Amino acid sequence: MKWLEIAPDVFVRRYAELDLSVGLVVGAESALVIDTRGDHQQGSELADAVRQVTALPWQVAITHGHFDHCFGTDAFLPAPVWAQERCPAYLAATADEQRGQWVAHYQREGHPEIAAALADSVPTTPDRLVPERADLDLGGRTVQLRHLGLGHTDHDLVIAVPDAGVVFAGDLVEQGAPPDFGDSHPEHWPSTVDALLALDPITVVPGHGGPVDHAFVRTQHAELTQLAVACREYRTGRASWDQAVRRSPFPADTTRDALRRVR
Ligand SMILES: [Zn+2]
Repeated sequence: MKWLEIAPDVFVRRYAELDLSVGLVVGAESALVIDTRGDHQQGSELADAVRQVTALPWQVAITHGHFDHCFGTDAFLPAPVWAQERCPAYLAATADEQRGQWVAHYQREGHPEIAAALADSVPTTPDRLVPERADLDLGGRTVQLRHLGLGHTDHDLVIAVPDAGVVFAGDLVEQGAPPDFGDSHPEHWPSTVDALLALDPITVVPGHGGPVDHAFVRTQHAELTQLAVACREYRTGRASWDQAVRRSPFPADTTRDALRRVR
């Protein structure tokens, strides 16, 4: 496991577990850690890894409240913890259910050690809340925390590093697997990715998978748009469930998750 420096003092660390990618942006005075992994042990591993890169004080930004992105935050405290303003309510409502579901998953899959660590993990409630935008001065460079609209969840936060042309997209963008629609707003997701592309990134870091370029995100945007159309047709009665599944560019299971979110 190594840090990949994708731009000067902008790092990505990618894990085999769930193919998760986390980020680190280092300024002259402080560092920003982007997502904290899925349990207290994984969070400690990441905190140690950050300390191998920088001794500066850190802040944490959480892209969204899914356990794999934020149940490791405890290892970074005390520190300011940034998130979109709806993230705390999402965590309060879902943390127990997420933990139960994924502890069972890891037990089933033969990973009792991850199950045990997750069972002992409590997500930190973010204390610096962003309705739409906050700019963080890390010393010599400013990062932007942006909520660009509904998408993978109702509280996705992207982290832009304009001087490096990098955007950390959380799970609004996924590489190597289809996006996850379990808590999504499929008909709004494309316009949110449009807003992300309007930030004009050279490199986009997905929450899962490796860093991608503008063209990859444009292609994913086109697929998300095709799915959004299928969802709208289903919602308005112009397509049956099965027709909508067939019109989607994503696998049937993925599309069914999206259709379940159609209101
Ligand atoms: Zn997620």
